[in-house]
Amino acid sequence: MATLGNPQNTIAVLEKYQFHFQKRFGQNFLIDTHVLDKIIRAAQITSEDLVLEIGPGIGTMTQYLCENARQVIAVEIDSNLIEILSDTLSPYDNVTVINEDILKLDINQIVEQQNNGRPIKVVANLPYYITTPIIMGLFESHVPIDSITVMVQKEVAERMQAGPGSKDYGALSLAVQYYAEAYIAANVPPNCFMPRPNVDSAVIRLTRHKTPVVNVQDEALMFRLIRASFNQRRKTLVNGLNNSPELSFSKDQIVHALEQSGLSPSIRGEALTLAQFATLSDELSKECSL
Ligand code: SAM
Repeated sequence: MATLGNPQNTIAVLEKYQFHFQKRFGQNFLIDTHVLDKIIRAAQITSEDLVLEIGPGIGTMTQYLCENARQVIAVEIDSNLIEILSDTLSPYDNVTVINEDILKLDINQIVEQQNNGRPIKVVANLPYYITTPIIMGLFESHVPIDSITVMVQKEVAERMQAGPGSKDYGALSLAVQYYAEAYIAANVPPNCFMPRPNVDSAVIRLTRHKTPVVNVQDEALMFRLIRASFNQRRKTLVNGLNNSPELSFSKDQIVHALEQSGLSPSIRGEALTLAQFATLSDELSKECSL
């Protein structure tokens, strides 16, 4: 079986199996070997690693992963691709294909069984319609993970990496940076895919923090504060938090907590760092117990 990372071999496979792309599954297959090399390099895969690939498609990147990792588990929702994958991946004995929706799979159980609970690496050219639920699901379910290296929409990658003061900074930046360090490894234009997507793409690596970068008493409260601040981006933090249906603090309590955190009552949420959100959250927790 020839490698697939070019248009000719991809078209040959698609024609052999009369495969039709399904838009609802976000199917844009990679047809550029340089991009595939960049993803593998950015993911820093070694022969020790168990790699989870989300959405292998016809197996283009899976072949590269099999060459570099100890073991690959590839989860594909589209049952029309399973027969193709058993053909394109036939040279490899270190891959398991699972025909399932990644959002329904118990990944913790797989890691426990296949890697004795040791951290895995996740690599994917993600289906863009579910980028955020996939990434946040992996972090929030506390799957043991070293890093997640994924192709995403370029503007989503920029939001994940952004810091205070940037127009891209928001709830997604803070949620991702709470769990991991973000690094954009490459920008990828639409002509590297078949069919071409309508948006630019980027490869981002999220390396999970070994120890938390901030300590917060009530993680759920901190994330409610973050969501409330960015839902009403143009309002001051006091008004944003006071108006939020998710929170029930009085204006006085919010102003007091801001003062105790060393922050001005006229500050906007978009100016706060993750550490400042954590401090504010701890101060507001105290207000509850006063
Ligand atoms: N990895 C291939 C490549 O790079 O050429 C295909 C990438 S394509 C952008 C996304 C893949 O994810 C498709 O094969 C699609 O069928 C699959 N997919 C979409 N939703 C999924 C889900 N919920 N669970 C698992 N796979 C999914």
